[in-house]
Amino acid sequence: MTRMSTLSAMITVLLLLSAASTLIADTPALTDPPRHDFPRVGEYEVLCGDFHMHTVNSDGEQTTREKVLEAYNYGYDAIAITDHGTARSYRLAASLARPLGLIVLRGAEMDIRDRPHLVVLNVSADYQPRNPRWAAGPGEENAFYQDQMREIRLAGGLIVYAHPHAGFTDAVQWGIAEGIVRGVEVKNAEVGSGYDTVESHGTYCYPFAFDWALDHDLALFANSDSHNARSGDQPVTLVLVKERSPSGVTEAIRELRTVAWFKGMLWGREELLSKLIESTVKVRRTPEGILVENCGPVALTAALTGVAGNLIEIEPYGEKLIGAEAGGDTISVTWQNVWISPRENLRSAFDVTTR
Ligand SMILES: [Zn+2]
Ligand SMILES: [Zn+2]
Repeated sequence: MTRMSTLSAMITVLLLLSAASTLIADTPALTDPPRHDFPRVGEYEVLCGDFHMHTVNSDGEQTTREKVLEAYNYGYDAIAITDHGTARSYRLAASLARPLGLIVLRGAEMDIRDRPHLVVLNVSADYQPRNPRWAAGPGEENAFYQDQMREIRLAGGLIVYAHPHAGFTDAVQWGIAEGIVRGVEVKNAEVGSGYDTVESHGTYCYPFAFDWALDHDLALFANSDSHNARSGDQPVTLVLVKERSPSGVTEAIRELRTVAWFKGMLWGREELLSKLIESTVKVRRTPEGILVENCGPVALTAALTGVAGNLIEIEPYGEKLIGAEAGGDTISVTWQNVWISPRENLRSAFDVTTR
């Protein structure tokens, strides 16, 4: 071996070693996700979703691979990677997610002259964004938002109004009237206290968007809009699906079967939350007293009527005994952290007749 070829062999080895270490650094380990299952709600399975996040394909700091593995590690069942103006992450994300049982919707985030930001979900490759920023009117250099929204509808997609700081604009109202804008974020973790959030319910969020959702038939979303590595408490959009698939998730969104879970609260429609709580909480009379059992991953705070010491917290997958003195055949509960509008808690009644 000549001196030159020894040197080139050494360089090759060094290059290989550095490539290997880069590969290892880029590949976060899979960990056991936290327990996050809910009991079935009738014909529906309850999935934990996050439908707004970014990678290096736009202004995020992480790769597609990192984002997918992280979502799995945090216990999500369904995600969308929504880079600004591009769905470039989708193919890799879907192939990485499949063996993990994680559902990926094809998505992107668009905006209209930087005011409303719109998350596009489940759009097929038939729709290719021309530019991330749409024009507010026809005849401009950028594509007109109405033409783009129609193309998205034709390609099977729907739109969620992201961090709705721009207000209830004409474009958003047009999209709702056309049946293309189908959801709104009531919580976006990335914007913190900015982007016209309101300090309410112990956090910064969009309670006014909860009212829009109820008034205009929009699905509720709590999304991360994560641009870098996650840490701590993460928002979740619960989706009650008939089928565990991208089309199952999309059908559930269109039919308004979502619940926003953030900062220890559940925000949703009364009918859906009643069913969710009915399936998740078991209340029965035992020789020791009334036993309240929480079969889901959300800690629940219950104010009980007609029971001494009436405010109780039931940990995820935990139970609480509320005393033998609890009388009557019905236990009435006001769920302090479950909201059916920005101003009203869900109430339930449980039959505890001894049989
Ligand atoms: Zn945005
Ligand atoms: Zn975003």
